[in-house]
Amino acid sequence: MPGYELWSDKERKEVNDVLETGILMRYGFDGPRKGIWKSKELEAAICNTFGCAYAQLTSSGTAALTTAMSALGIGYGDEVITPSFTFVASFEAVLSVGAVPVLVDVDDTLTLDPEAVRRAITPKTKAIMPVHMCGSMADLDALKAICAEHHLILLEDACQSIGGTYKGKALGTIGDAGTFSFDFVKTMTCAEGGVVMTNREDIFIKSDGYTDHGHDHKGVDRGADLHPFIGYNYRISELHAAVGLAQIQRLNEFLTLQKKNHGLLKNMLAAIPEISFRRVPDPAGDSCSFISWFLPTEELTRAVVMEMKAQGILPGNFYWYDNNWHYIRKWDHLKTGETLNALHPELKARVMQEANKDFAASDTIMSRCISTAISLLWSEEQIREKGEKMVGVVKKVLSEQAVAR
Ligand SMILES: *Cc1c(COP(=O)(O)O)cnc(C)c1O
Repeated sequence: MPGYELWSDKERKEVNDVLETGILMRYGFDGPRKGIWKSKELEAAICNTFGCAYAQLTSSGTAALTTAMSALGIGYGDEVITPSFTFVASFEAVLSVGAVPVLVDVDDTLTLDPEAVRRAITPKTKAIMPVHMCGSMADLDALKAICAEHHLILLEDACQSIGGTYKGKALGTIGDAGTFSFDFVKTMTCAEGGVVMTNREDIFIKSDGYTDHGHDHKGVDRGADLHPFIGYNYRISELHAAVGLAQIQRLNEFLTLQKKNHGLLKNMLAAIPEISFRRVPDPAGDSCSFISWFLPTEELTRAVVMEMKAQGILPGNFYWYDNNWHYIRKWDHLKTGETLNALHPELKARVMQEANKDFAASDTIMSRCISTAISLLWSEEQIREKGEKMVGVVKKVLSEQAVAR
């Protein structure tokens, strides 16, 4: 998963270019910055690398989602369909623009179940926001078809799947807009940062202004810029962009290692017939940041998690079902509508209603799922050792259960 594991002279060099001039801001100061424009360079590199027409950097992935939603005109009165399994940022962003996050069940892809999406559509549905969780993708053809049929926006939260593809196209560049996060644990990092990617010029122009107080960025003089609409400050800094610029040049190196390590470990787990794996709609496009695997029952899965913990090999393995950040089951603050600022009572009621629905279909998937994060630092020897220990744990639990019967 993480580019931070391979911090190098390349990152240091890019950051030093910025430290030399002392111009840490991405806009203005044209003379003193001496031709150093790391944010602009990174945006161009993103367009080149992922094959989108436009890229707007932001201060975080959450800010990128909020920006994309505003630019897409999502707001009051709108519903956004998004999965029950995601990072909290996905629904935070929907709330930040005053829309209702309509959480919908996931299937064995660990992403939106297209049939559940269909059932959740109302006259107020404005957008579908699949989240390409844990390095792999949603069934985009099915979701695109639903969007076309119902005239809905497709916004991809690709924050966790940098470098993944679907039928040859980069995840995050397939919908009306898509986002990456470059926070510290993502496939490539800026320390903090994010990007809105789009092929629509109108969405880009709005994103560009929205992230910088509505500036139209048409003039040479920042002070003379016009403000065609109200924006906020979701800017990235030159220091952060500099880190990202080094990382994107190393992305292929990261992904190659990730895929190799993923393949080696997955082969070992696959030798156990009781283990199954997440369904990947386009296997060639898996970025391989995680191996997500299932056991036949919740009971067995819990026993495996406990045994891994007992043997000290749980770190790096995620049982999302009990996790506070990634699954509806533990999002009590959302279920009770716990915001600091008052929400309109109608909005709050709708948000709580959606968050308190029955997610039994997701539960049957998530209660049996363990995701193993892939490190770029593992040697083949370490992978073998790790795999043997994991296989040992699963076999032990399975045989204990057989005896107990
Ligand atoms: C990391 C992440 C985000 C938010 O990114 P930040 O840069 O941490 O704000 C959004 N969605 C998903 C699925 C993520 O994993």
